[in-house]
Amino acid sequence: MKNINNLVEKKSNELELIHSYQDACSNKDFKKYVDSLGIEEQILIKYTSSLEDSYMEYTNCKNCKSLACCKNKVIGYRYTPEKEKNIIKFSYLACKWNVLAQKENAYKENLELFDMPLEIKEASLKEVYTDDKSRIPIIKYFKEFMDKYNSNQNPKGLYLTGSFGSGKTYLIAALLNEMAKKKIQCTLVYYPEFLRSLKSSFQTDYSEKFDFIKKSPVLLLDDIGAENESNWSRDEVLGPILQYRMQNHLPTFFTSNLTLEELESSLATTSSGVDKVKARRIIERIKQLTVTMELIGKNRRN
Ligand code: ADP
Ligand code: MG
Repeated sequence: MKNINNLVEKKSNELELIHSYQDACSNKDFKKYVDSLGIEEQILIKYTSSLEDSYMEYTNCKNCKSLACCKNKVIGYRYTPEKEKNIIKFSYLACKWNVLAQKENAYKENLELFDMPLEIKEASLKEVYTDDKSRIPIIKYFKEFMDKYNSNQNPKGLYLTGSFGSGKTYLIAALLNEMAKKKIQCTLVYYPEFLRSLKSSFQTDYSEKFDFIKKSPVLLLDDIGAENESNWSRDEVLGPILQYRMQNHLPTFFTSNLTLEELESSLATTSSGVDKVKARRIIERIKQLTVTMELIGKNRRN
C-alpha cells in the first residue's frame, strides 16, 4: 500500500511539473527561448521556475544598452542554463557589456600608483578641457612624444609647472593612461609621500621600492618640490633615480607648483645647510630628462 501511495504521489508531482511548464510555455516568447536551448522537454520540465528567471534575465539583456542600465540580479551577469548530462546547471555568465568593460579596463593593470587617487586611472585625453588654450601645446607635445616613443627615438618627458589645481597631474595621468592602453608599464608616484614611505622602510623593502621607481619604464614624479628637502632625499634618492633614468633613456615626467629655478633654490636649502652645487646637478638632470612647460589656469579643485 505504501508503495502505491508513493507511486501516486510521484505521478502527481510529475503532473504538477508538466502543468507549470506548460503554463509557462503559454508565453510564446518563453517557449521560443526554451526551444532555443536545445534541451529535451523531460529535462526542461523540472526547472520551470529557474528557466523563467533565466528567461527574464535573457530578456533584460536583449533590451539592454549599457552596464549602467543592467536590470539583472547580479549587475553585468546573466543567469544562464546549461545542460550537463541529464540535468541543467545554472550559472552567472558575464554579459557583453561586462566583457567590453573588462577589456576597456585591462590597461589599468599597466598602471602602478603610489599614493595617488585611484580615479586618476580614469583620466583621459578625450576628456581634457580644451576651453583653456594653455593645454593645447601640451597636448601637441604628447602627440610628438608618443610618435617618438613608438619609433624608439627616446623622447624627453615633461616638467610641467603651474599653479595649484590647474590640472597638471590630470593631464600627465591622461597621457600615461593612453600609454598603459598600449601595454606600456607606467608608474605614477605622489613624490612627497613616496619619500616618507621610503624613509620608513629602511629595515624592510627599501631597495625594492627604490628600484621599482628607478626602473619603471615610464614614471611620473608628481608634486616634486612639495616635500621637505633633506640631503638624503636630494642626494640619495632623487639624484640616483634621475641618473639611472638618464643613462637608460627612461621617460620621466614631473609636475610641480615650482618653476625649475624655484625648485633649484628649494633643493639647495636643506635642514643641513645650503649646497647650491648639488641642487644645480639635480636641475641639470631634470633638464636632460625633460622639456619644461607651464600650465596656467583656474583652480579646478572643488
Ligand atoms: P594640479 O595637479 O595642477 O594641482 P589636478 O590635476 O589635481 O591639478 O586637477 C585639479 C582637479 O581638477 C582634480 O580634481 C582633477 O581631477 C580635476 N581635473 C583637472 N583637469 C581635468 C580634466 N581635464 N577633466 C576632468 N577633471 C579634471
Ligand atoms: Mg597635482
